Amino acid sequence: MKIEAIDVTLVDVPASRPIQMSFTTVQKQSYAIVQIRAGGLVGIGEGSSVGGPTWSSECAETIKVIIETYLAPLLIGKDATNLRELQHLMERAVTGNYSAKAAIDVALHDLKARSLNLPLSDLIGGAIQQGIPIAWTLASGDTQRDIAIAEEMIERRRHNRFKIKLGVRSPADDLRHIEKIIERVGDRAAVRVDINQAWDENTASVWIPRLEAAGVELVEQPVARSNFDALRRLSADNGVAILADESLSSLASAFELARHHCVDAFSLKLCNMGGVANTLKVAAIAEASGIASYGGTMLDSSIGTAAALHVYATLPTMPFGCELLGPWVLADTLTQTQLEIKDFEIRLPSGPGLGVDIDPDKLRHFTRAG
Ligand SMILES: [Mg+2]
Repeated sequence: MKIEAIDVTLVDVPASRPIQMSFTTVQKQSYAIVQIRAGGLVGIGEGSSVGGPTWSSECAETIKVIIETYLAPLLIGKDATNLRELQHLMERAVTGNYSAKAAIDVALHDLKARSLNLPLSDLIGGAIQQGIPIAWTLASGDTQRDIAIAEEMIERRRHNRFKIKLGVRSPADDLRHIEKIIERVGDRAAVRVDINQAWDENTASVWIPRLEAAGVELVEQPVARSNFDALRRLSADNGVAILADESLSSLASAFELARHHCVDAFSLKLCNMGGVANTLKVAAIAEASGIASYGGTMLDSSIGTAAALHVYATLPTMPFGCELLGPWVLADTLTQTQLEIKDFEIRLPSGPGLGVDIDPDKLRHFTRAG
């Protein structure tokens, strides 16, 4: 089964509500949607970054250029089923650019799984979980509005874990915001925070104990991505779990973070690691070093979310669940079916490959002009 064509489409999908973070406010999310054709089948994948090249050094536009200029010419004509050889070829030809490689890698896994009539999770060994607890992000910037959303999500049995984005306001204002939310829903829900690198180590040393005292269960990326020493000290000095997100940017970074036990949990993201196999390797590093795996997202659409879900479902344990909320942050879906959240868990889709298929009309509708 030889690779015949690799198509990349840039799409811009509006967010259903603005998401305020320390570094940007997301109003729309851009994706490079990849379709790989071989043997009469099409495999799909996607690459993206939150808010353009600010969260990571890639963005939908660079992903398209890297794939069309360097990766597609290398892979067309090769055996589509030899996933490790194709991954090796991409690694040799292009440094970094993990989201571009992940978009291809996921599409190749989808294609191979479809050719064998297997769900992706079966292709990589089999799912242990059929559902994973899923957190919702409260990021309206308004305390009363965030509380109302949390109450509604609990009532509808969709989410009872909430992630709150910090770092836009002062730490004192952020703490008051958190305390009010926990006061209202803390008996029925867990609350974690994401600081998105906004604090320096001194600020984190002062305010993380106060967040812990307020009842926060997890503190995500309090300091700059490169400051592994500060993460190690903050993890050692605080009982609350520290989660690496931006710091986890390669297989080597996973090993370095694990070697010195700089954090208590890793936020896995397929597009950050270069695809399925590397994400499983990062999970193995975490498991071997007593670090929890957490199901991260790059605000993936239902395509990237389905891929992540198949990978996360094969892991033995994910104590903090996942945050695969991308499909519900978008105002519309690019696939023919929407994924399902039931009883506070996102459900693994059935069917071959990713278990979702592109809706061609929606893809056309959201394709960037020109
Ligand atoms: Mg984060």
